[in-house]
Amino acid sequence: MQALADTPDRAAIRDAVAALCARFDDEYWLTRDRTGTFAFDFHKAFADAGWLGIAMPEQYGGAGLGITEAAIMMQTVANSAGVFAACSTIHLNVFGPHAIVVHGTDEQKARWLPPLIKGEVRACFGVTEPDAGLDTTRITTRAERGGNGYIVHGRKVWTSGAQHAHKIMLLARTTPIDRCARPSDGLSLFYTDLDRRYVQVHEIHKMGRAAVDSNATFFDGLPVALEDRIGEEGKGFRYLLDSLNPERILTAAEAVGIGRRALCRATQYAKERVVFGRPIGQNQAIQHPLAESWAELAAAELMVLRAASLYDRAEPCGAEANAAKYLASDACFAAADRAVRTHGGFGYASEYHVERYFREAVLSRLVPVSRELVLCYLAERVLGLPKSY
Ligand SMILES: Cc1cc2nc3c(=O)[nH]c(=O)nc-3n(C[C@H](O)[C@H](O)[C@H](O)COP(=O)(O)OP(=O)(O)OC[C@H]3O[C@@H](n4cnc5c(N)ncnc54)[C@H](O)[C@@H]3O)c2cc1C
Repeated sequence: MQALADTPDRAAIRDAVAALCARFDDEYWLTRDRTGTFAFDFHKAFADAGWLGIAMPEQYGGAGLGITEAAIMMQTVANSAGVFAACSTIHLNVFGPHAIVVHGTDEQKARWLPPLIKGEVRACFGVTEPDAGLDTTRITTRAERGGNGYIVHGRKVWTSGAQHAHKIMLLARTTPIDRCARPSDGLSLFYTDLDRRYVQVHEIHKMGRAAVDSNATFFDGLPVALEDRIGEEGKGFRYLLDSLNPERILTAAEAVGIGRRALCRATQYAKERVVFGRPIGQNQAIQHPLAESWAELAAAELMVLRAASLYDRAEPCGAEANAAKYLASDACFAAADRAVRTHGGFGYASEYHVERYFREAVLSRLVPVSRELVLCYLAERVLGLPKSY
C-alpha cells in the first residue's frame, strides 16, 4: 500500500524515500518514543540525501518541486515505522520556510534557506498561544520597536522542536488590537534566532509523538533585528494564511500514510493470528473494518492529490485542502483504532507498535487545525452558511 504516484519521477521519489525510511525500523522509533529523544540521525539522513529542500527553489539548493511531490514524500515517511514522529522530525525544514519563499526578500532567502535545506539549522514555529487557541488574531505576544528592530515579550505554547531549534518563525503583535481596523491587522511575522538568553523553553509531557518535543515558550525581551521581519509590518497574519492550504495538504498526506501503516500491520496480524482454529482475518467482523479503512484511506489520498494538483497549478484549493485534511485524519484515526482492536490485548502492548501509531493518529485530528474548524470553513466558504466563529 504505497503512495500513489502518476509519473515515473514521482514513483522514484516515493521508492527512494521508502528505502531511506526503511533504515529506521520500529525498534528505533519505539526507543525514541520511550526516551523522548529527537531523531537527529534520521534528520541528518534526510538532509544528506537532499530531501529537505524538495519544495524549495533550486537557486537556494532545493529541488524546486511542487506540493504534490512533497505530499508523496511525507505520505511515504508517515507510512514508515516512525509514523507522525518521523514526519515531524523533518516537517518544519520541508514546510516551515514557505512564508520565506513566498514573501521573503532575495537577501533573506539566500541567508535562511540553504542552511535549512542542508539540515544545518532546525526551525520551530511559534504561533499558538495559551489564551488565544485557534483564534490566532487574539495572540498577545508583542514585538515593540526598540534596539536595531524589535523587542519581543510574551509566551507561546506547543512550540514543537524548540528544545533543539536554532531558529523560530514567530507571529507577534506589532500594533495593539484596539488600534487596528480588523483583528487580523497589526500582526507581524519574524524568522529569527531562538536566543536562549531571552527565551525559556519548557517541555510539555504529552500522549504521543514523544520523539519530537512540544513546549511552552516564554519570551522576555528577545531582540529581533529589522532584517528578520518577513514582508511588511502588520501583514503577518495574511502571510500565514497563504501557507494554510499547503500545510493542510501535507498533514493530510501524513495522516493517510499513518493510517496505511496501521492497516498494513493489522492485516498482517489478522492473517497470522489463529484463534478458534482459524486465522482471525477469516472472520468478517475483522475483515470488514479493515476493508473499510482501505477504501477510506484511498478516497482521502485522492482528495489529497487533487488538492495538491490544484495548488501546484496556482488554482483555488481551499475546499479541497480542508476536505483532504478532514477525510484523511478521520480515516487515519479509524485505521489506527481498528489496528489496535485487530490485535486484541496485544494491541495494547508497545512491542506490537500499533498502540504507538494510535497515539500519534489521535494527534492528526488535532493539528494543525481541528476537524471542527475545518468543517466551519467548508460550511461557510463552500456551502455559503453564516460564519459561526
Ligand atoms: C503535539 C502538538 C504540537 C503542536 N505544535 C505546534 C507548533 O509547533 N507551533 C504552533 O504554533 N502550534 C502548535 N500546536 C498547536 C495546534 O496547532 C493547535 O492550533 C492548537 O492545539 C489549538 O489550540 P487549543 O488547543 O488552544 O484549542 P482551542 O482553540 O481551545 O479549541 C478547543 C476545542 O474547541 C473547538 N472549537 C473552538 N472554537 C470553536 C468554534 N467556534 N466552533 C467549533 N469548535 C470550536 C476546537 O475545534 C477544539 O476542538 C501543536 C499542538 C499539539 C497538540
